[in-house]
Amino acid sequence: MIADVVIAGGGPNGLMLATELGLAGLRPVVLELLPERATENRANGLVGQVVRMLDRRGLYEQLSGSTEPPKPAPGFVFGALPLNLSVLDDNSLYVLQVPQLRVQQILAERAVELGAELRRGHRITGLTQQDDAVTIEVEGPDGPYRMRTRYLVGADGGRSLTRKLAGIDFPGVTRDTTVSLSLHATVPETIVDPATGGLNVPGYGYVPPFMHHRTERGLFVYAPFPGKPPVITTIEWPEDTPGDEQLPTVDELRASVGRVLGVDVPLGEPEGEGPFLRRRLLGGNTRIAERFRDRRILLLGDAAHVHSAIGGPGLNLGLQDAVNLGWKLAAEIHGWAPPGLLDSYESERRPASERVVMHTQAQSALIAPGSEVTALRRLFTELLADPRTIQHVTDTMSGADIRYEMGNDAHPLVGRLAPDLAGLAELTRDARPLLLDLTKDGTLAREPRGWSDRVDVVRTQVDDAPATALLLRPDGYVAWASDSPEPGVAERADLRAALARWFGAPKAE
Ligand SMILES: Cc1cc2nc3c(=O)[nH]c(=O)nc-3n(C[C@H](O)[C@H](O)[C@H](O)COP(=O)(O)OP(=O)(O)OC[C@H]3O[C@@H](n4cnc5c(N)ncnc54)[C@H](O)[C@@H]3O)c2cc1C
Repeated sequence: MIADVVIAGGGPNGLMLATELGLAGLRPVVLELLPERATENRANGLVGQVVRMLDRRGLYEQLSGSTEPPKPAPGFVFGALPLNLSVLDDNSLYVLQVPQLRVQQILAERAVELGAELRRGHRITGLTQQDDAVTIEVEGPDGPYRMRTRYLVGADGGRSLTRKLAGIDFPGVTRDTTVSLSLHATVPETIVDPATGGLNVPGYGYVPPFMHHRTERGLFVYAPFPGKPPVITTIEWPEDTPGDEQLPTVDELRASVGRVLGVDVPLGEPEGEGPFLRRRLLGGNTRIAERFRDRRILLLGDAAHVHSAIGGPGLNLGLQDAVNLGWKLAAEIHGWAPPGLLDSYESERRPASERVVMHTQAQSALIAPGSEVTALRRLFTELLADPRTIQHVTDTMSGADIRYEMGNDAHPLVGRLAPDLAGLAELTRDARPLLLDLTKDGTLAREPRGWSDRVDVVRTQVDDAPATALLLRPDGYVAWASDSPEPGVAERADLRAALARWFGAPKAE
């Protein structure tokens, strides 16, 4: 027996890929070394285009608990500088506050519902590639075994064994100059600002909630998530980085807050039901895999790229990698992928990861201590008074600046994530290629008949439509668009070229 796809790692990105493959009719096997669901939370939220993307898979309602469609955030921060997003005409920064553990739980349930086999307590330990398959060595609860798969996707995190065994380098930089502490802790009620939920720290001043707050000595974050004691985080740049990997204590955090803010804040042990967060991170890595594919092995999420968590871009990048890869891999396995489709995973997603590396490194520079950085921040603050600069920074952080190369970029929507249209979130849930015919008479409806087994055609009318027709890939990106009320011969030929480029040769009629 040979599996179609094995995914190494049941973190958020591996699980998202499993759901996408499930929607495409495949039954991937997910090998996850942890025997039980993970208990240590990492991300506290999703930031950027990924929020719209999850809405288009019907997952936003479950994650947010709201039946309203997602709305962009009124404000955010870049390198601990406030961004006033309310001045933008086209605000692309969506934020969904949700613990990563919850995202993982929902994706795990969904993946299994769609037919994935999730094997917990199974660790990949070795692999070899043949022309037609990858043979994997696995250590399972009942001992070692071997399995074969047509494709192996390494979604096994920043220290990916899959990447190492495939001989793929991970160039970049490792910084060991920072110490970050994050703990649940209590603060005196008297200093909590009832209006904003922020802190009025005696002798220091106001600190807003959930925002990175920089001083010349370090960074402080006060995050009063509901239902638990607040999470307090500091980042410092000590002269000698201590190699201490012990779990930090509240007293240690209090001393760190004292150094960063310059005044003592009497923090207390967390109260209520645990478990409580106690995390120490020493330094950090910024690296991108030398290549995302080696024959039948592909890398996804943190296995392909790691960077600072500042601004929360990790899941925006990784979950969109999964949505980009899922349909392409499925097309390859179903046998209709046009040449080069699977390689477009890397050519599209590498630039996205390079943008994230660029802006997280820029933000790390802006939060560093020292008077030169304070001067740089003053200059940035002046630049960020201009809405065009805010738009640029916002699109960079959200990933809305990404425009994939589609071979026909005459229409401004081509290469971009499809704009929100009434009913689109429902139409894209099953992740099928989609021709949206918005012309008055539905004149395009017959055009993709050679692709009718792969491409759905929907005739619809919406107010203020941004085009008269849109061809959408399963990842929601626009492959072709028209503004003509009645697209003519040349435009129809362009449409057929786009259909063939992304969805393979038409069936003979
Ligand atoms: C402190 C912190 C805060 C963060 N905050 C945010 C945030 O607010 N927003 C955001 O978007 N991102 C944030 N991130 C980044 C985000 O957590 C990561 O990008 C995300 O976890 C990557 O998911 P992944 O599925 O690629 O890898 P992982 O989450 O690392 O999952 C990999 C999985 O593979 C399994 N595995 C490893 N080796 C093997 C093996 N040999 N065989 C089988 N299974 C294996 C692991 O057990 C794990 O379950 C944060 C990260 C950290 C550390």
